[in-house]
Amino acid sequence: MPKCAHCDRQWRYTETLQQLFSLKCPVCGKKNYLTAKSRNWNGMSSLLYLPVIILIFMFSELSIVGMVFLGIGLFLVSMMVQPLMLELSKEEEPFG
Ligand SMILES: [Zn+2]
Repeated sequence: MPKCAHCDRQWRYTETLQQLFSLKCPVCGKKNYLTAKSRNWNGMSSLLYLPVIILIFMFSELSIVGMVFLGIGLFLVSMMVQPLMLELSKEEEPFG
């Protein structure tokens, strides 16, 4: 679970989920940024879903509606996993 870069308080899972987009600390209210490493991991993990979706599409008789639900399901799973992988920093780190 991530720690606030300002007050060093560890965020709870539900708090992290609520702050996933704003990344505002629930204790000190200051804005946090994702570390470059954490951002890279996010990008990688969403890339991993693409082959999975294509494979399922090729080997199953899933309808379009089924695919939409599958996409939503995978998206939700990636959201649930994200709090475990987040790393926070005070400043926005450059890409690299
Ligand atoms: Zn804080």
